[in-house]
Amino acid sequence: MTVAVVTGGTRGIGAAIAKGLQAAGLTVAATYHGNVEKAEAFKAETGIHVYKWDVGDEAACVEGLGKVAAELGPISVLINNAGITRDGMFHKMSFTQWREVLATNLDSMFTMTRPVIDGMRERGHGRIINISSINGQKGQMGQANYSAAKAGVIGFTKALAQENARKGITVNAICPGYIDTEMVQAVPEKVLESIIAGIPVGRLGKAEEIAALCAYLASDAAGFMTGAVLTINGGQYIAN
Ligand code: NDP
Repeated sequence: MTVAVVTGGTRGIGAAIAKGLQAAGLTVAATYHGNVEKAEAFKAETGIHVYKWDVGDEAACVEGLGKVAAELGPISVLINNAGITRDGMFHKMSFTQWREVLATNLDSMFTMTRPVIDGMRERGHGRIINISSINGQKGQMGQANYSAAKAGVIGFTKALAQENARKGITVNAICPGYIDTEMVQAVPEKVLESIIAGIPVGRLGKAEEIAALCAYLASDAAGFMTGAVLTINGGQYIAN
């Protein structure tokens, strides 16, 4: 049975990804950080295994991934999805806002991937999918920290793809546009209206639309696709 780990997999985009991989026949471990209530409800609804740790904490990732492997088996699919925002104009941004976003969105690429890469290389198979953002591609006012972290995810993806291409491991990045999750629901209504007005398809994306792409990238059929940066944003980036 193929084992997949989805970080931030108990709600939002990650939950849809976890369900999509489960539907594709994978054994899925979904991680979360603090929202125990949501995680327990998700576990009860889906039967998906849930694990709690901070993806920005290296020791916690080593321990957590060791536990997943011991309980479910070797990890051959990793979806680095967990992410946060701490928005503010850069001239008012604190170093704490910067550090928190970089830790969760970018340090996690190291802390989560480093413990599983050796096993994937030894077994000659792996799928790593990193969730970046449209704002890592184009930059976003009020998100210097988040844009920097998400752009970093793209560079990491391209380097790791090259290093592991001959080992049967593919590494790809998905850059979602605005998707209807709690992260986007937190954006002020007026700002959200103007964002939607700038999306050519005229609506927010659905988490399931990201999950479908993720399921493809995790499949054996996607073995020739690596180092790719896939935009899925209702046409927004090309429009701006
Ligand atoms: P949500 O805020 O809905 O969910 C975030 C998930 O990440 C939760 O499961 C949360 O756990 C988990 N998480 C947060 N911090 C940590 C941490 N330190 N350690 C472990 N888990 C953590 O986010 P979305 O579903 O909207 O976003 C998912 C990904 O997609 C993120 O990387 C985001 O940046 C990216 N993205 C989202 C877009 C959107 O429009 N929604 C657009 C482009 C990219 P808990 O429930 O315990 O808090």
